[in-house]
Amino acid sequence: MDFSSKLLENAVYEMSQLPGIGKRTALRLVLHLLKQPERQTENLSNALTKLRTMVQFCKKCHNISDTALCEICSNPKRDASLVCVVEDIRDVMAIENTGQYRGLYHVLGGKISPIEGMGPQDLTISSLINKVKEGEVQELILALSSTMEGDTTNFYIFKQLEGTGVKTSTIARGIAIGDELEYADEVTLGRSILNRIPFEGSFSNK
Ligand SMILES: [Zn+2]
Repeated sequence: MDFSSKLLENAVYEMSQLPGIGKRTALRLVLHLLKQPERQTENLSNALTKLRTMVQFCKKCHNISDTALCEICSNPKRDASLVCVVEDIRDVMAIENTGQYRGLYHVLGGKISPIEGMGPQDLTISSLINKVKEGEVQELILALSSTMEGDTTNFYIFKQLEGTGVKTSTIARGIAIGDELEYADEVTLGRSILNRIPFEGSFSNK
């Protein structure tokens, strides 16, 4: 792509670094911003800068938060004995949208994936195990997607929990094998949480 302006070229380059944005789309977005009032671009860059400098991760559940303890963890009406283990904030949002769940979450920050170089030490698994060992948690719901990486992660966590006596269940019904959690519809996802099954029974017949 030949640019008449270095400034334009730089902006297009930075925009094209985002996932799913090719050079053409990046150019279209940048040209769109140029047509809008200057304030719109200012608002966008301010929002992104603020996000990067001020965002925190909840010290209890590791969810993205504006405060040291997120709104869900600091809500006394939530059941702290029940913890739903998810991959990232998109899953928290999807489950919250169902309106069916009153427990807390634990955000792993990904799944174990040797191909992507993600090992257990790259996730918040040890913090989860410590939380369980401290004794407040009575039941863990493993709500990772039913992909191979999700299964591997579930199983790893399950093995780490051996001997702690914590009840472990997994969402099962309605979530198809290979489905990413965030794409499940709210009714299906809500039902999958209510109808969770003991984790041990979920792999013994495979
Ligand atoms: Zn939290």
